[in-house]
Amino acid sequence: MPATLHGVSASPGIVVGPAHLLRWEVPEVPSRVIDDAEIEGEIARLRTCIEAACDRLRAVKARAEEKAGAAEAAIFDVQVAILQDGELRTRIETLVRQNLAAEKAFDLVMLEWREHFGRSTNPMMRERVGDLVDVHIRLLSLLLDLPDHDPVDLEPGSNAILVTHDLTPSLTIQLDRRAIAGIATDAGTRTSHVAILARSLGLPAVVGLIDATSKLQTGDRVILDGTNGTLIPRPTAAVLAQFADRARREAAAQAELATLADAEAVMLDGTRVTLRANVDLPDEAGRAAESGAEGVGLMRTEFLVVGRTAMPSEDEQVEAYANVVRAFRGQPVVIRTYDVGGDKLPIGGFPHEPNPFLGWRAIRMCLDEPELFKVQLRALLRAAVDGDLRIMLPLVVSVEEVRQARFLLQEAADELSRRGIAHRADVPLGVMIETPAAAMSADSFADDVSFFSIGTNDLVQYTLAVDRGNASLVTRYTPLHPAVLRLIARTVEVARGARLDVSVCGEMASQPLMAFALLGLGVHTLSVAPSGIPAVKRLVRGVSQAAARDAATAALRSATAREAEQVLRQALGAQLGEELLDGLLGLA
Ligand code: PEP
Ligand code: MG
Repeated sequence: MPATLHGVSASPGIVVGPAHLLRWEVPEVPSRVIDDAEIEGEIARLRTCIEAACDRLRAVKARAEEKAGAAEAAIFDVQVAILQDGELRTRIETLVRQNLAAEKAFDLVMLEWREHFGRSTNPMMRERVGDLVDVHIRLLSLLLDLPDHDPVDLEPGSNAILVTHDLTPSLTIQLDRRAIAGIATDAGTRTSHVAILARSLGLPAVVGLIDATSKLQTGDRVILDGTNGTLIPRPTAAVLAQFADRARREAAAQAELATLADAEAVMLDGTRVTLRANVDLPDEAGRAAESGAEGVGLMRTEFLVVGRTAMPSEDEQVEAYANVVRAFRGQPVVIRTYDVGGDKLPIGGFPHEPNPFLGWRAIRMCLDEPELFKVQLRALLRAAVDGDLRIMLPLVVSVEEVRQARFLLQEAADELSRRGIAHRADVPLGVMIETPAAAMSADSFADDVSFFSIGTNDLVQYTLAVDRGNASLVTRYTPLHPAVLRLIARTVEVARGARLDVSVCGEMASQPLMAFALLGLGVHTLSVAPSGIPAVKRLVRGVSQAAARDAATAALRSATAREAEQVLRQALGAQLGEELLDGLLGLA
């Protein structure tokens, strides 16, 4: 039996099923020269493969249309159009006539085109780079006669464990959730895009496995243990039985926690805590509303853009936001404006930057593209008519950004008034505190915003200078580092002084030890993935504010994250009892 593969727990749960390997990467292309006599045959082979790729794309489109809708499926029309482009075909055939094998000729031309499109000043051209990459992989797989790894080929009920290097957004929209039981990736960490998405879908996931794709083959039976972050290839009957037993116990514990859905999130001393849901996919809103969440603390709107050929229209956005608002019937729904760029929308639609995490992204991009931003702002103001919608700005570093956004928000409201369209102009505007700059200068925002929401995923990344998505830095990504705790404490202090709501919507809020620290620091609104709400609620109901405060004060004084963790663990064990604590830590 091959050794257990160790990764990072990204979404809890234990599942057993056949591995489905998805190698969606541009393959190595060997250099091959052909004789003059082979040229015509090679061109015919190229044309046949292009036709096969187009047929396949049309089939993929039909299935995507069924699952995700026409707008999302339109991306495949673009890819067919690329393959049928006369200029592209002539260029490849010219190289074949100069004795290059078809795959090498195609590879060279695609690299050229990707470079050219990526450097374009026209955003529409840059948006096509992601499609070029998909076409590049698809046709090379055919020309090199490689196995076809299309993720949409899985039948519903396959119970497959998807094993891939990294799950990009364009692959994500192709996934059939009815066919996949779990996700395992070589790359990624607990706060990377794939982990967030898996939690939001309630799919067990292990990320950061480094080389799972080279150790497994499609069809291998595997146990995916999302709770402990391991993947066990080809398990023996004894191991299977052991895991089946654990899976049963976990399911029972989850079922027991789920009975808390209607219970209040109140601490032992009566302190009331508000638990909200993070909603990433608009169609998850119904499930989120049933999880016992009192509203939405973070809706990540960039998932509306994933896999699309163009930004969603104003009407489409109104519908998506209003769906979430209506699902929560008058409870607060905090919708974050586009946080695209960095790790969020790697579709190639943005200029190639040497350091995208510090680059042109989130509020920076929105303020520089006011027409695109105002479509979203108008949609938000319109959807606000249906309930308590609040708008949140990501990645702010200065209050000037808030003022500029507010100016555009006013313009958006004026435009709607002129058009006689129903909307609310008094929507609360808040900011994410996810940069050290925002936390350190939180006081400078206080007069201009209605609330703070601390985005610890990024706050940790930017404070510690540790890439949140880099699997080899996992042990250095330590949210309990005293610098992070102090920035949170400072933000809470400013919020309290200014009587502003403050919440945490990063992953710290869903991890029991860290949530305990946050309660102790005075954060009484936490927003987590819907599947994480019961465990956090159980934690809240088992601890007192005084104990949490004492533990957080000690953690704040610790010299290291490890020391802070020990202090918190001890205090939480004393409050909950070791058995319950172990159970909750296991389920998070
Ligand atoms: C965060 O940074 O903590 C956050 C909630 O936003 P995201 O994970 O989408 O960057
Ligand atoms: Mg963030």
